Amino acid sequence: MQASAAWSQEHLEDDAQRVQGKLLKAFSEVTGIRAEPAHVDTQRWRYAQTTTPLGQSHLWDAKSGLGACGDWCLGHRVENAFVSGLELALAVA
Ligand SMILES: Cc1cc2nc3c(=O)[nH]c(=O)nc-3n(C[C@H](O)[C@H](O)[C@H](O)COP(=O)(O)OP(=O)(O)OC[C@H]3O[C@@H](n4cnc5c(N)ncnc54)[C@H](O)[C@@H]3O)c2cc1C
Repeated sequence: MQASAAWSQEHLEDDAQRVQGKLLKAFSEVTGIRAEPAHVDTQRWRYAQTTTPLGQSHLWDAKSGLGACGDWCLGHRVENAFVSGLELALAVA
């Protein structure tokens, strides 16, 4: 299960057990599945999403031969990471 960014923000400092209980309850309500899971783990990704992207696809300094790329350049999704990496590779080539 993955909580929305808004829900996670609201419950950011909640106890992990409490969050787990709430998400399991929501899962049961949404799916109708009442089975007890064999294993449950809770992970808080505090910095999971870029809030303010760089606004350009990559950074490349030809003089030093140093470049940087990642989803944070353009957004917070895997396609942003792909485009960023591709653009840096094209700049290096
Ligand atoms: C819970 C979650 C769910 C997601 N779901 C989706 C989804 O459904 N769809 C979607 O499009 N995107 C999703 N994303 C976002 C997607 O995972 C990222 O946009 C993408 O992985 C970013 O790729 P990246 O290469 O920029 O960074 P990363 O994938 O974070 O890669 C960075 C790499 O650098 C390594 N690293 C960090 N510091 C160092 C260091 N000092 N030395 C060496 N290595 C280092 C890390 O170990 C990591 O392997 C999700 C993200 C999270 C957290």
